[in-house]
Amino acid sequence: MGSRALDSFLKENLEDLKSKGLYNQIDSLQGANGPIIKIGGRELINLSSNNYLGLATNKRMVDASIEAAKKYGVGAGAVRTINGTLDIHDELEKKLAEFKHTEAAIAFQSGFNCNAGAIQAVMNKKDAILSDELNHASIIDGCRLSGAKIIRYAHNNMEDLREKAKAARESGLYEKLMVISDGVFSMDGDVVDLPGMVEVSEEFDLITYIDDAHGSGVMGKGAGTVKHFGLSHKIDFQIGTLSKAIGVVGGYVAGSKDLIDWLKVRARPFLFSTSLTPATAAACIEAINIMTESTELNEKLWENGDYLKKGLKALGFNIGNSETPITPCIIGDEKLTQQFSRRLNEEGVYAKSIVFPTVPLGTGRVRNMPTAAHTKEMLDEAIKIYEKIGKELEVI
Ligand SMILES: *Cc1c(COP(=O)(O)O)cnc(C)c1O
Repeated sequence: MGSRALDSFLKENLEDLKSKGLYNQIDSLQGANGPIIKIGGRELINLSSNNYLGLATNKRMVDASIEAAKKYGVGAGAVRTINGTLDIHDELEKKLAEFKHTEAAIAFQSGFNCNAGAIQAVMNKKDAILSDELNHASIIDGCRLSGAKIIRYAHNNMEDLREKAKAARESGLYEKLMVISDGVFSMDGDVVDLPGMVEVSEEFDLITYIDDAHGSGVMGKGAGTVKHFGLSHKIDFQIGTLSKAIGVVGGYVAGSKDLIDWLKVRARPFLFSTSLTPATAAACIEAINIMTESTELNEKLWENGDYLKKGLKALGFNIGNSETPITPCIIGDEKLTQQFSRRLNEEGVYAKSIVFPTVPLGTGRVRNMPTAAHTKEMLDEAIKIYEKIGKELEVI
């Protein structure tokens, strides 16, 4: 049979994780990912999805994807550059550029692939990247793939960014400099100081790169964090995902026409991995139509976020400093946080615990992601359960 070295590596490491309680057993949902989910035959109020606008089950989008599957089939047939570009991919990119107020856009198979492709398409080992210390894993990997020097700066600290950008410039060691940040940081729900970043970037000629995976559909009435700050003309790379608020799967980069033309010949996941399915492209186009026709879902999302925050805060929970609907409930101790999440689950709320090393030691939290699809009754029920467990575990 297979390699003995592999067998013992897997056995040892799996046992180690399990003995420390760090092995993540993945739950299967029986049915759609909506505000109420079913796991193991039990119905739970779902506060764990990134399906901010509830679009993952949107009827118009489902219909659009069925129509597209009937017209184009289920697969695109090839990578985009060979003959996997369907007119529906071009249409999606045109829509995305309009949505982001940029000259052009390019779609990828995922947000992760955007970062794996876009950074290394322009940065190389003669360059340096200034990266927020709390950036998403896909940004970190994308930076590594580029071979550029990675210089981490303190989280959302524009003074530290300025010092490090200045030092990098004055060292004379690097050709291009880039600054990369999440638009919305998903663990705390805080937002990048974009005006501060633009100021530093202009002073030191930094290429600006914002990954707005959690901001698109949420910030700026849906158009994202960059639009929220009115800085669309100042940001070189705007990354978005089609997998969170948009509710489907995929990612995109929006920017100048030259940038997008370049990515179409240099971004490796675009060149070497098959394009989005026609059904996916059609569903995403319909999602953008829905978001641009009306801001109703976006407003509902914020209303629900505020409602949940208010409810938990009134009970005495520490909900941190979120500036978005993301509502962390900070418990502190890692074991207690995990126990809290487990008890919520037993009582009917699905909200995940997030502990060290994903967040700093002693700041374990249960993270709540309300969506536009939740009703007040669902949120009231969730808050009631929070109160019960909070008292039981003496957190409030
Ligand atoms: C979720 C996320 C991604 C990955 O997006 P997918 O489309 O799910 O691959 C990339 N960047 C950030 C900042 C994210 O939060």
